[in-house]
Order: sequence, then C-alpha cells, then structure tokens
Amino acid sequence: MKIGILGCAGRMGQMLVQQILATDGAELAGGTEAPGSAAVGQDIAGLAGFDASGIVVGDDARALFEGSDVVIDFTVPAATADHARMASGTGTAWIVGTTGLSAAQQDLIAQAAAKAAVVQAANFSVGVNLLLGLTEQVAGALGDDYDIEVIEMHHRHKVDAPSGTALALGEAAAAGRGVDLGAVSQRGRDGHTGPRRAGDIGFATLRGGDVAGDHTVLFAGDGERVELTHKAGSRAVFASGAVRAALWTEGRAPGLYSMRDVLALA
Ligand code: NAD
Repeated sequence: MKIGILGCAGRMGQMLVQQILATDGAELAGGTEAPGSAAVGQDIAGLAGFDASGIVVGDDARALFEGSDVVIDFTVPAATADHARMASGTGTAWIVGTTGLSAAQQDLIAQAAAKAAVVQAANFSVGVNLLLGLTEQVAGALGDDYDIEVIEMHHRHKVDAPSGTALALGEAAAAGRGVDLGAVSQRGRDGHTGPRRAGDIGFATLRGGDVAGDHTVLFAGDGERVELTHKAGSRAVFASGAVRAALWTEGRAPGLYSMRDVLALA
C-alpha cells in the first residue's frame, strides 16, 4: 500500500519513515511538513538518517491524500482539522495519532469517517491497548471503594497535558464504573484542596527528559493498592502500530475505528 506521512519531519514522522521503509507491503508515497518548514524540499529519508530516497518533503497535504492509499497524521490539532476536510474530500484512509484535539476538531474527524476509513488512537502501542481493556475490567471489579488516579510521564517537549493516553485510560476506568468521565475528572490539585471527592478519577502529569511515554492507573483502597503500568521504551512501538493500522485499512468501509478494532480486541 502507498502510505503518506503528514508531519514527516517530526519525532513520530521520522519514526514512521523508518518503519514504512522496513515494512513489507508498505511503500512510502511521500510526506508533508508545515508550509515554510525548513524540512520542505529535503529528502524524506535523508531527514531520518537513511540514504536518499529520491522523495522530497512537500507542503501540499491535499496532493498527498490524492496520491496515497492511506495517510498517517501525527502533527498538531489545527493541521489535523484541515486534514479531516481532505480525508472527507478524497475518501483516502487516514490514521490519526495527533492528541490534544478540541471537541470541535474531534467532530471534524467524525465527519471524515462518514467518507473514509479513519483509525484514531491516543496510543498505537499493543501494550496500551491491552491496558485499556484491563483498566475497564479492574475498575468494574474493584468498585467505588478504590480511588482511581492516572499518572503519566512524557518527555520535556510534549505540549498537551494530561496525555491523550492518560485521558483514554480515564475513559476506560469511567466506563468500567459506569460513570461519565467529564463529571468525575480531577485534572489538577494545588493549594488547600480539601479531602479527595469520592468517586473522582484523578490525573497527575510529569514532564521531563526523553521519556517516550509512561502510564500508570492506580487503584488505592484501604490497606492495598493495585497499579497497572505501561512504559514505552521507544516511539517505535507507536510507529509500528500506526503502520499496522494503515495496512489494516485496505478495502475497509468508511467508519471511525480504534486501535482495539485493528488488534481485534474490541
Ligand atoms: P513533533 O512536534 O515532533 O512533530 C509534529 C510535526 O508536525 C512537526 O514536524 C511539525 O512541523 C509538523 N506539522 C505542523 N503543522 C503541520 C502541517 N500543517 N502539515 C504538516 N506537518 C505539520 O511531535 P511528535 O512528538 O511527533 O507528536 C506529534 C503528535 O502525535 C502529538 O499530538 C503527540 O501527542 C502525538 N503522539 C501520539 C502517539 C499515539 O500513539 N497516538 C504517540 C506519540 C505522539
């Protein structure tokens, strides 16, 4: 399959270039960067430290949608919103990894999924998708006597908090309890907060170094704690999952799919 990469000079974009070049059945169709980026016009594989591929980084995302079987998007929310309109217009399958989207931007993705096969995941690793299912199961089994806190750590460059994965884990815990995360989410504590509100699902965010992504869901009861933890050692786990999702879209009907669909865990 011909796979295009939006944001191909980014941390994830460069991982994806390597992953696609190393995957049987995947062909690199091209890549884009933001108009005006220094990467535009440079060799896409050269940026990732490989021998020149003869494919240069472009800035025309619509042309990339038109020239690819599937396009992978790890960019920024505003760009992903523009790309949603292109996926709608071309019907090209689209893999969305960008996090930190607003509700309005998320609506555009849902609209695109009426016209194209869209796989969206806050985290493309196999392990985290298993963890989502376990979190839902444990939250349901332990019940309300156990306080739930979601703790995450990422590298110093990450711009959104809590991470999309932490929020997805919070959603999974809320689903296990049969509650709406929006009503029980506690996203920051500072100063004289008073005691913990019963039923809250708390989030704590750590930032530093080059951490690719650590997540823990902690269930704290009286006299015991249960901790479910995932640690990504490298971004390669997200890139290989995203390419797996891209190959999975072949012949797939329009719709909004998750990584749990791709892994047949849903
Ligand atoms: P990054 O800043 O290194 O890369 C983003 C790239 O997008 C940059 O190179 C930027 O120039 C480019 N970009 C911006 N506007 C663009 C446009 N209009 N067209 C094309 N390219 C454009 O960030 P990153 O660490 O690679 O992460 C990117 C996104 O992916 C973030 O939202 C991050 O949270 C998310 N992420 C998701 C997963 C997952 O598994 N779902 C894993 C890692 C990161």
